[in-house]
Amino acid sequence: MLMKVVLLEYTQNPEKVCAVAALTTMKEGTPSEMIKEIDPENAKKRIQRVVGYGHYSIIEHANFTFSIEGISRACSHQLVRHRIASFTQQSQRYVKMDEIPFVVPPSIKKNKVAADLFNQNIKFLSESYKKLLELGITPEDARFILPNATKTNLVMTMNARELLHFFNLRCCNRAQWEIREMAWEMLYQVLDVSPALFETSGPKCIVEGICTEGKSSCGCYKLFEGKTIEERRLLVKDFYKQ
Ligand SMILES: Cc1cc2nc3c(=O)[nH]c(=O)nc-3n(C[C@H](O)[C@H](O)[C@H](O)COP(=O)(O)OP(=O)(O)OC[C@H]3O[C@@H](n4cnc5c(N)ncnc54)[C@H](O)[C@@H]3O)c2cc1C
Repeated sequence: MLMKVVLLEYTQNPEKVCAVAALTTMKEGTPSEMIKEIDPENAKKRIQRVVGYGHYSIIEHANFTFSIEGISRACSHQLVRHRIASFTQQSQRYVKMDEIPFVVPPSIKKNKVAADLFNQNIKFLSESYKKLLELGITPEDARFILPNATKTNLVMTMNARELLHFFNLRCCNRAQWEIREMAWEMLYQVLDVSPALFETSGPKCIVEGICTEGKSSCGCYKLFEGKTIEERRLLVKDFYKQ
């Protein structure tokens, strides 16, 4: 199974909720009354105006919960560095695996010699894990032999503010390929359900029109002239094909 990203649930009417938060800062009425006046068009304007002032806390009221399936532990380790998120990950202490699923990086997959070496070692580690369990070693100790490539599943919730930050860092071509692939999947899914919150989201080059990666820059921002934000997103997303 390849990586799968599913938007499980999200705040109902996320734009209305954030817009009423914006309105609350400026109007005398109560939020429960004011929310009745908000339609999608004025929700979008309110959000853009207040976020434009740098008042990002209004978009913390919209939450998005994802099921992230079949990513490597190397990827999940990077993911959980994002502290303004909630995570629940499949346990290697409680889940005793009969078949250990692994992610094979594309660079290894397409190199026959590297792929053979990788697969031989994975097979050896997999058999060693099972042998340790047969010897009565608990899964919490047997897992010490499992590599970064081992697949994992998790549930993750982020609010819209943290998602913008996450996309800024992880949709960038400088981010590692697996977390980048995941971030782009997430971006398109939230963009679909809440365009007003995410229409300008993406890596720094898309959002701010600049790249701060210096010599390590992928250079794609140089191709942005005359392009719409959707075209720029596709350009960055496809800049490095695996
Ligand atoms: C390309 C790339 C390469 C990386 N390489 C490495 C590496 O080699 N080694 C490594 O260890 N990490 C590495 N990281 C991880 C990186 O250092 C961050 O830990 C990770 O990206 C999470 O970012 P964050 O802290 O901004 O975000 P979050 O944890 O999601 O926090 C969001 C924002 O909240 C604020 N915030 C959160 N917690 C605090 C706090 N305690 N104090 C003050 N402000 C806070 C900050 O403004 C922060 O930007 C890399 C990340 C990227 C994108």
